[in-house]
Amino acid sequence: HNPELDRLLQAYEWSAKFYHYLLKNTEYGKAAMDYLRSRKFSDHMIDQFQIGYAPDRWDTLLQFLERRNFDLAEMDRGGLLSSRSEGKGYIDRFRGRIIFPIANRAGKVVAFAGRILGEGQPKYLNSPESKLFNKSRILYNLHQSKASIRKTRQIVLFEGYGDVISAWESGVHNGVATMGTSLTENHASMMKALADEAVIAYDGDRAGQAAAMKALSMLEATGLRVKVAVLPGGLDPNEFVAQYGGDRFREQIIESAVSTVKFKLIYLKKNHILLEEDGKIAYVKEALQIIASLHSSTEREVYLKEIASELDLSYDSLKQDCNLLRASMQ
Ligand code: ATP
Ligand code: MN
Ligand code: MN
Ligand code: MN
Repeated sequence: HNPELDRLLQAYEWSAKFYHYLLKNTEYGKAAMDYLRSRKFSDHMIDQFQIGYAPDRWDTLLQFLERRNFDLAEMDRGGLLSSRSEGKGYIDRFRGRIIFPIANRAGKVVAFAGRILGEGQPKYLNSPESKLFNKSRILYNLHQSKASIRKTRQIVLFEGYGDVISAWESGVHNGVATMGTSLTENHASMMKALADEAVIAYDGDRAGQAAAMKALSMLEATGLRVKVAVLPGGLDPNEFVAQYGGDRFREQIIESAVSTVKFKLIYLKKNHILLEEDGKIAYVKEALQIIASLHSSTEREVYLKEIASELDLSYDSLKQDCNLLRASMQ
């Protein structure tokens, strides 16, 4: 039992409510509200995820906390305020940002992620790590999604807050996200403890797909069954839902998630120019490496046949090369 942590939890809870109120009910929040609406965040999503707005002023939260007799040095250490760079005293840490409260598994707010309105750097500003908030141990939205994860034995992993939120609105209630940092071993074992299957639904851009390659090996290493949801056209889940709607997102993206082998082959294909012989051969070599390591001969046959028809090669020669490779792997 630590009284300073209790006070910080109280401050985060009240600050989250305050920022949510400012967004929804005041003139300060109007531009942020318009921005969220333009990105198709519904009132329901804003309430469910307690999204807020920190006005672009120095002392909005400072005054709120002062009036409630919080110790400002303590609030600075906890990441709600910052020390002035010159002179004494404190200022609001989050200014002119949309606030996504980050809750722990018990549903207590332990940090904020603040997204700048529109363009600007840094795009996201997080609370610093503290005794309450350890990025490598927190999955965004786990407090709300754990019931559905336990029930379905499946967990969906997203890159961003907006992705989790729009997935939720689409009926995908078993989604979580990391705090922008990459997936840690600790996250992976938390996921394994709740589910049998993980679906990686990272952004469709290059960075997202490369991150998915890393995440899938980490998750498979825990013993989870892993699938990958492939987003078209470089879109992220949030953008896909805004563009095509929640039903299509559920059916065509989440429910159509592919096996990790399939995903590796898709990923590989993007990195080779298949119209050139060199590219084609290099692609087949690497693809065979992946396929040869599969234990099931049925699975090997399925993928070899796909490649054969896709590249207009004979199944027999692919199978022969695959078997040679398998022999050399023993
Ligand atoms: P938006 O749709 O509002 O642009 P996003 O979630 O799609 O946000 P991405 O650029 O795809 O943003 O980044 C994915 C995630 O990575 C973010 O949700 C956030 O958690 C994290 N992230 C991105 N940029 C930063 C940053 N500058 N600092 C900390 N975390 C960041
Ligand atoms: Mn991204
Ligand atoms: Mn994104
Ligand atoms: Mn996005």
